[in-house]
Amino acid sequence: MIVQKFGGTSVKSLARIKNVASIIASAASTDSVVAVVSAMGDTTDYLVKLAHQAGKAPNRRELDALLSTGEQISAALVAMALNDVGARAVSLTGAQLGITTESIHAAARIVDINTERVRRHLDDGLIVVAAGFQGKTREGDTTTLGRGGSDTTAVALAAALHASACDIFTDVSGVYTADPNIVPTAQLLKEISYEEMLEMARVGAQVLHPRAVELARKHGIPVRVRNTFDPTHEGTILKGADEMEIYRPVSGVTVDRDQARLAILKVPDRPGVAGEIFGALAERRVSVDMIIQAFHEGGSVNDITFTVKRGDLVTAHQALKEAASRTGAEGVLADEDVAKVSIVGAGLMDQPDVAARMFSALGQADINIKMISTSEIRISCAISDRDAERAVRIVHDLFHLDEPESN
Ligand code: ADP
Ligand code: ASP
Ligand code: MG
Repeated sequence: MIVQKFGGTSVKSLARIKNVASIIASAASTDSVVAVVSAMGDTTDYLVKLAHQAGKAPNRRELDALLSTGEQISAALVAMALNDVGARAVSLTGAQLGITTESIHAAARIVDINTERVRRHLDDGLIVVAAGFQGKTREGDTTTLGRGGSDTTAVALAAALHASACDIFTDVSGVYTADPNIVPTAQLLKEISYEEMLEMARVGAQVLHPRAVELARKHGIPVRVRNTFDPTHEGTILKGADEMEIYRPVSGVTVDRDQARLAILKVPDRPGVAGEIFGALAERRVSVDMIIQAFHEGGSVNDITFTVKRGDLVTAHQALKEAASRTGAEGVLADEDVAKVSIVGAGLMDQPDVAARMFSALGQADINIKMISTSEIRISCAISDRDAERAVRIVHDLFHLDEPESN
């Protein structure tokens, strides 16, 4: 039993849907197949736009009801295309797949999959075409899993069904050292550890949804990222760190342009203030990333600066202004001109000079670093969005990532 997932570009048109159907049909000649599909091309963006035209602040429940239809269209069309080439297929929505999620709209987590119906169809010899990116709450309301969430549907189904493979088909040949659409000399990685991929996905490598990587790591699923338009290519396989055959100090460079920065100025320095400020943001479901607290001379007040997703800026700004007046802070600043450039690599912890080299290279290119954050296997710099792509290329060059890898 295998799971195959096809992203938006792969099912953009009817011609491409027929191509996808032929890949699925050929796999189905030897295996049971669950095929997970995304919405056609930019359908989800289009639906989001439509929703905002219908009302200024669309209700999240209704937004999920709307967005989930994109994947349902593709699933039905792929099933039809399969039937047309003589394969028996049935399309299923998230609810029909038995996917239950939390009762949170727009970014729900899967809590349970009842695989009974899918197994029954597979046992009857059918190909199951699953609408990605969606589930239902315990009350039966439709939810979505967050942008890019069809990857997560695929890995979650692979885990629940104990699939022997989970292939994520997309519009590039696998995971590269950087987005190949930004750095043409980026190299394809034959393998990458779950930890590095998770870190890369969290800091902007759109190729896999972070939650999908988390699930793959938890269940040890050998996810393979492959090219829909060149399905013979081996692509990239995700593995446990201890199974890696290739050692690299730096595996990849990523950029996240969906960033903004906020600062709350001269907050009184007393216990509980940070809790109050970030509590107010958490209440509005705003996730906060890089955080810096800097003290002023005299030590009685601090500035606290942090980054958020650009789409959360308005909500976060409002929450912060309220927190400023409650805590007696002097004011609030918002900066939309932010991108985050990161390097990720399991070897970073053994190389104390890497951070300094990255900062110097950006400095020499006259790129100002606004903020820095690190983990054991990642270094991130917030810079001006204008410099984003240039910075990725500079850092990619600096660590010689354009050279083919060797064992
Ligand atoms: P899909 O619609 O198939 O889910 P996505 O657009 O979500 O595809 O993800 C594939 C895209 O991810 C590629 O077209 C590429 O531009 C981008 N990408 C960003 N970083 C990387 C990377 N390190 N390796 C491969 N692709 C990347
Ligand atoms: N269609 C959804 C999106 O555009 C989910 C996905 O493609 O994975 O985000
Ligand atoms: Mg995607």
